[in-house]
Amino acid sequence: MMIKPKFQLDDVKAKAQGLWMDTIFPRFNIEVRFKKKTPCPACGGRDRFRYDDKNGNGDYICQHCGAGDGFSLIQKCTHLSFPDTIAEVAAIVGLDATSNITDADRARWRKEKEIRDKEQRERELKMQEQIARKADGLFRNAYLGDFSLYLKNKQVDKDPKIKITHDGNLLIPAIDENGKIWNVQTITPDGQKLFIQESGGRTGGCFFMIGEVQPDLYDAHIICIAEGYATGMSIHMATGHPVALSFVANNLPKVGAVLRKKYPKAVFVYCADDDSAKEDTGIKYAKEAQSITGGIVILPDFTQVQESIA
Ligand SMILES: [Zn+2]
Repeated sequence: MMIKPKFQLDDVKAKAQGLWMDTIFPRFNIEVRFKKKTPCPACGGRDRFRYDDKNGNGDYICQHCGAGDGFSLIQKCTHLSFPDTIAEVAAIVGLDATSNITDADRARWRKEKEIRDKEQRERELKMQEQIARKADGLFRNAYLGDFSLYLKNKQVDKDPKIKITHDGNLLIPAIDENGKIWNVQTITPDGQKLFIQESGGRTGGCFFMIGEVQPDLYDAHIICIAEGYATGMSIHMATGHPVALSFVANNLPKVGAVLRKKYPKAVFVYCADDDSAKEDTGIKYAKEAQSITGGIVILPDFTQVQESIA
């Protein structure tokens, strides 16, 4: 049905300023988070969508279905016509009391959104399980060798629970708190680090433990938490403490939270890496983890170790 708007688009835009996220979008069951990467309310995905309200008109950017303002997002999600969308937003912001949208429409959109969300979660879980099976096979069936140039260059030991393949790669399993392997990190002889299809596999909250945690020996026992293998093993060799690896910096808080549940009495020492990734990334996530679990943050200084080796 075609309706002629009784008001100017600019009036509606002006009235809608500041109301998009909390007032207007929820009426269409559209969920956005300010300046966070999220799935797209219209086309799904994982982190392709960002709502920034740049011009105050409910503006967003989707890497898949494009950018636009709040009217365009509502149209994409509900398939309403442009005039209907304007009329409905106008009604919501109090410009006109008549609305062509029925409660049945809203109920349908809510249902559709629930179905989209559920399908999305199932797709993600299926992909993670697929990669977990692949990781388990890769780790278990590896054709073994005994020399890793990476370990030699880094002057660190091999943990008995990791593997060296015949072509000199290191295989380090990423394991959850129940011991299930979800992914495997491969470190090539020249130090390249790879996961199986990093985008679809699960690494969040997964870790590898260098050494053994023996919580019943002491009341307060130390667990170090570091990012990468070479750093982690250096710390283990220097201190004898078990060291959990988070593999990537932004996984430090998740691993900290998982280990906190498993080892409630442990003192966590976050060993921030400053050589990897961007400047201060390691410190930032180590501090975030510390704020969740307590413990201390240190910045390991290996210059002395390297000098003594040279
Ligand atoms: Zn999209």
